[in-house]
Amino acid sequence: MINKNELLERFLRYVRVWTTSDSLKADSGQCPSTPNQFDLARILEKELKQLGFQGVTVNDKCFVYGFLPSNEGYENKPSVMFLSHLDTSEDVSGKDVEPIVWKEFVDDKIILPSGHFIEGAELKSAIENHETIITSNGETLLGADDKAGIASIMTAADYLQLHPEIKHGKIEVVFSPDEETGHSMDNVPLEMISSKSAYTVDGGHIGEIEIECFNAYKSLITFFGNAVHTGLGRGKLVNAVTMAGSFLSNLPRHEAPETTDGYEGFFAPMGVEGSMEKAEITVLLRDFTESGMELKKRQIEALANVTALNFGGKVEVKHVFQYANMKPEMDKNPRVVIDLINACKEAGVAPRIVPIRGGTDGSRLTQNGIPTPNIFTGGHNYHSRTEWCSLEQMEKAAEVIVNIVKAK
Ligand SMILES: [Zn+2]
Repeated sequence: MINKNELLERFLRYVRVWTTSDSLKADSGQCPSTPNQFDLARILEKELKQLGFQGVTVNDKCFVYGFLPSNEGYENKPSVMFLSHLDTSEDVSGKDVEPIVWKEFVDDKIILPSGHFIEGAELKSAIENHETIITSNGETLLGADDKAGIASIMTAADYLQLHPEIKHGKIEVVFSPDEETGHSMDNVPLEMISSKSAYTVDGGHIGEIEIECFNAYKSLITFFGNAVHTGLGRGKLVNAVTMAGSFLSNLPRHEAPETTDGYEGFFAPMGVEGSMEKAEITVLLRDFTESGMELKKRQIEALANVTALNFGGKVEVKHVFQYANMKPEMDKNPRVVIDLINACKEAGVAPRIVPIRGGTDGSRLTQNGIPTPNIFTGGHNYHSRTEWCSLEQMEKAAEVIVNIVKAK
């Protein structure tokens, strides 16, 4: 059904384009954070036009937008949008990616030219299913996150163009910059979007769909001490560095990113800097429930206050909202999820709802009134040199997209 060779060619074409984003620049308000994200945006602009999309634009923030108009008589069908992101993570280089296509395996693992090993249950099952695996040469990441999503959306659009008998309402496509820096949705051109529901194609293993993510806050804890010459400090010196150290060592060890998974939340200290007079700590708070998040905020405040009291210093705590779990909004629009589950089943894929232990562009769109679940892409081991992608799983993602369109 889906043209697998075209899908593979597209994917290989996209991963070769260097689109690493830069969180420092993104934090300072630059969008896109790296100009080379435009290179992929321009390629996609051209290809969308070739696929018959209308209103195709790349705006000055590097958002690619285009739509397939509804068929005659289908104007009243609800419009639906699909999104993927252009950038790749800065954790590992994304420059000069040399993709390798693996069709034969000696074992249930892959050894990359760089010497890195890829193994694990998901790879094993993909090899047993005779799937085609794509990796980098190990010197870079692959960029399946999220070029597998882009390739799936483009291939689904290609399929719709070749099959005019599939009637549909308006279909919108957005490719966004700077998802990895967390700033993509700061600039999303909501005024262009008419869909009331959307799907990000930015997930992992086949069948995994995501309708739930963390509630996220960033806590900024600032300890204030009293600096005195160390030789004359007795009874007078209050050391903010010592307070910061004490605070950090008293955070619950069983509620850290390295000791939790599934639906468990955590405290993640991300940075500390300071002097005797003043020390600042950044801690990420993550929890799937609102009540759990409130509790975590109170725990931070209590620990900060007790620490300051113990050492005779002062402390200030500020909680900064980052993003919210999209589940409550999703529950108000169950159709969006039901369509996705049915689309998976129709493609012969067993859907499995998994919580996202992070944020997603979908959570920000959901907050903006556009419920946006996340669809698998067949990509694995994201943000690493051992990133890999299954062609057949990507193919199923494209099929799921087509089935969603049919259901609308
Ligand atoms: Zn991604």
